[in-house]
Amino acid sequence: MSTLFTKIINRDIPADIVYEDAHVVAFKDIEPQAPVHILIVPREETEGLASLPDEGDHTYILNAAKKIAFEFGLDKSGYRLVFNQGEHGQQTVPHLHAHLLGGRQMSWPPG
Ligand code: 5GP
Repeated sequence: MSTLFTKIINRDIPADIVYEDAHVVAFKDIEPQAPVHILIVPREETEGLASLPDEGDHTYILNAAKKIAFEFGLDKSGYRLVFNQGEHGQQTVPHLHAHLLGGRQMSWPPG
């Protein structure tokens, strides 16, 4: 059974895709929490950060985030990269993804 995000990756469900490479597809969040809010999603289905295999190089997610942030002009002003994991992390879609948020001043601590 494919996840919601796999359906977006396969173009079965429409989304505003802004970047893709061999490892990830990135698209605008449907409920943006900042002027720039992009989800970076590995093509391979993994439930979340906790189920990412111990072995292997997962820096492709960070590399994609860095490139997208640059493309959206966020590299100078700054941005935030968030992985929500499980219940306390308030993860709602069980397919690993990073939120890239920018275009406004963030606050800390997060809610
Ligand atoms: P999570 O809560 O799992 O960390 O993040 C899931 C994100 O997916 C949420 O920010 C939510 O707005 C976004 N989302 C849920 N359904 C869709 C959809 O159908 N299309 C897009 N583009 N984003 C979605």
